[in-house]
Amino acid sequence: MAQWFAMKAEHEDALLFFRMGDFYELFFADAQAASAALDIALTARGKHQEQPVPMCGVPVSQAEMYLARLIRRGFRVAIVEQMEDPAAAKARGAKGPLSRAVVRLVTPGTLTEESLLEAGRANYLVAIAPGGGRLGVAWADISTGLFETQATDAPGLLAVLGRLDPAEILCAEAVELGPYAARLVAPGRLAMQAPAGAAAARRELARVFNAASLDAFGVFSDAEVLAAGQVLAYIAATQMGAMPRLSHPVPAGEAGQLEMDAATRASLEILSSRGGGEAGSLLAAVKRTVSAPGARLLAAWLAAPLNRLDMLQDRQGAWLALRDAGTAEGMRGVLRGAPDVSRALGRIALGRAAPRDLAAIAAGLSTAERLRPMVPQGGRLLNEAVAALDPAPGLAEVLGRALAEPAPLRLEDGGAIAAGFDPELDAQRALRDNTRQVIAEFQSELAARYGVASLKIRHHAQLGFVIEVPAVAVEKLRENPELILRQGMANGARFTHPELSALDQRIAEAAAQAAVREKIVFAWLVKQVLAQAEALAACAQALALLDVLQSAAALSATNRFCCPELSDDEEFEIKSARHPVVEAALPPGVGFIPNHCTLAPGQRLMLLTGPNMAGKSTYLRQNALAVILAQAGMPVPAEAMRLGLVDRLFSRVGAADDLASGRSTFMVEMIETAAILHQAGPKSFVIVDEIGRGTGTRDGLAIAQAVLEALHNGNRCRAIFATHFHELFQLAEALPRLTPYTMRVKEFKGEVVFMHEVVRGAAQRSWGVHVARLAGVPESVARRAEILLKAAERNVPATSALPLFASVVQEPDDARPDLLKELEALDPDRMSPREALDALYALRQRL
Ligand code: ADP
Repeated sequence: MAQWFAMKAEHEDALLFFRMGDFYELFFADAQAASAALDIALTARGKHQEQPVPMCGVPVSQAEMYLARLIRRGFRVAIVEQMEDPAAAKARGAKGPLSRAVVRLVTPGTLTEESLLEAGRANYLVAIAPGGGRLGVAWADISTGLFETQATDAPGLLAVLGRLDPAEILCAEAVELGPYAARLVAPGRLAMQAPAGAAAARRELARVFNAASLDAFGVFSDAEVLAAGQVLAYIAATQMGAMPRLSHPVPAGEAGQLEMDAATRASLEILSSRGGGEAGSLLAAVKRTVSAPGARLLAAWLAAPLNRLDMLQDRQGAWLALRDAGTAEGMRGVLRGAPDVSRALGRIALGRAAPRDLAAIAAGLSTAERLRPMVPQGGRLLNEAVAALDPAPGLAEVLGRALAEPAPLRLEDGGAIAAGFDPELDAQRALRDNTRQVIAEFQSELAARYGVASLKIRHHAQLGFVIEVPAVAVEKLRENPELILRQGMANGARFTHPELSALDQRIAEAAAQAAVREKIVFAWLVKQVLAQAEALAACAQALALLDVLQSAAALSATNRFCCPELSDDEEFEIKSARHPVVEAALPPGVGFIPNHCTLAPGQRLMLLTGPNMAGKSTYLRQNALAVILAQAGMPVPAEAMRLGLVDRLFSRVGAADDLASGRSTFMVEMIETAAILHQAGPKSFVIVDEIGRGTGTRDGLAIAQAVLEALHNGNRCRAIFATHFHELFQLAEALPRLTPYTMRVKEFKGEVVFMHEVVRGAAQRSWGVHVARLAGVPESVARRAEILLKAAERNVPATSALPLFASVVQEPDDARPDLLKELEALDPDRMSPREALDALYALRQRL
């Protein structure tokens, strides 16, 4: 208990997994929390201050599964191991409890186990540190070794977090983390020794990565260095000093990337849909990778599209080469189920290697070997990949000979090393196994010696080897001086025999020695692997890259995805584009209607009107998604695309209430609009949907018009502006680069049919009542709305429905005098009571 209390005091916020033999036991409040979270029995053991001590436990062999559940529920777990062998401690006559120590803190951002990680997703630990008026961000994925930094500002931070989707965030200062606040490790929760000051952090980083100076790896701001120092310190604190295989830090910078803010990212559902999962996301729709590392790399590409022509052409060139050589299909077969070499390598470097991790390295090497001859010539990326596919000469052969198949789950289970690899191990195993043979012979000998044919030698958990005889023979053997009666049973008895005890000892010794030898051989293999870690990591990356490239080639081979033509000018033309997610979700038999989009420099602003449900937001998004795919270097769901690279992408589609932060829909909408108006430039691409919906009609219309004018005259960005204020199309006369488009709608036998087709022109009306009816609003309400609409259209002079359009040339008047005029124009004597009531409603509505 004293041991437990001491450790708990150091790790107050973590559950202690306290190793006792074959179990990890939890006590006190830990036990209560864990038993509730894991749904396992809560018991009690001993007493503390007169009270029974609550306790629960999980078997060591199944600990990973329980850990996974606890981590997912937000717990942190400290693993306390026995630091000495119980038998050895007994042998040296030690008194008191075995020595124990916390060997690792399991936290969401520092996971390495396959069962705790999602195969297709990176797992980032992120640190944020302010410095020099900027925010330094550093992130590492210790399961794969990636380590990067970036300097940013407060809004940029949310964009970076949106891209990384961190598992855990370290930040000592009060910084706005938006929706990621819940992933913050409470400051001061962990006594970690982060270097104080940027200079110290620079020295420490240089030391850890064996460089004379950090400058060797690029230019880092002080804030980035501080953040990187915190990442390292946290890893050291959670891994208790063991250092994972981390690549040296790389300043990722913003240069060369397509910038997207957090709202844009969320609205486009790039890696996950609004519901949270991958299903329904862009990633899910275009993913044809067949390995987990490939899936992660594709996600990383989509999350961070580029703004660099040369790099994008490298990517395009590589998958086009695979497609044209027709090798993608074959490569897919080889890559399918390829092991996760980088994560296996991560565990091996941390001293957590299981036999299957070495098996993964061996399998990865064999995948690389088979893949190498299949990769065609085709530019820088493929050349580099081919070079990386030939790492560690000789290692595959050694691992192939050394590892037994199938690999046991744990090294302690034995049998990880194949027979014939290590003569000493073979000899000890032979000794262990031969003794079994000797026992069988001894059994026959004793049966003959005592004249008891049914005599058996059995192994018993407490007694070791015993002789079992049936009841009839017990009397006969009881007096035999060689034998000691140990246990009577209903149908016989158990005896021990000195020779048997000696044998027992020999077997146990041989087995123990074999186990020790196996560990030595295994450790030697681990060393061989680690000696080649860099080359193996590069090989793992090449495998992931080839998987992503074959995925792209497979998409484009369907002829439904094209290779976009990229340039550095301001072109924007997409022919017959589709929305890959909406298309996939359409019921069978319903075809997706492809649409063009042209935003040439002279007509860079598209005004899209059309009723709700006509397909406006689908259209907006499909064009933004095409930009993301194109600038990720991937094929695009269209017939053809020409794109001058976009520097910033803004999407304001589908307002979401930000209730958690107490902002109304309208406020969120205006904050996002402000960001666009401040940041978008001629190379940017903006899609906005229904600006001004969150406020009154008159306000909304006014704001929509003002924003449109600003985008046209000020930002001069390429933009699609969708609105159900169909009145706005009249602006086209005053704004030369604005072209009106509308969603085609057909009326057929009184029914409205949405054609989902984008055509030049403007919507004639808004069809709101029709949509209401489609949605199942009661017929009486729909009919009443129709009457009100007709009355309003009849009673209100057509021009005054658009009071704001005068403002293109002159300031709007106050609308009230209009109302007075209309009121004056009414002739109550010639109206039916119903018409009078309707007119009154219509006037009221316009107040
Ligand atoms: P809006 O933004 O105009 O209200 P949406 O873009 O949400 O409309 O589209 C409504 C629905 O219409 C979509 O969920 C989809 O089922 C269908 N749809 C939209 N565009 C197309 C298209 N191009 N082809 C086929 N169906 C479409």
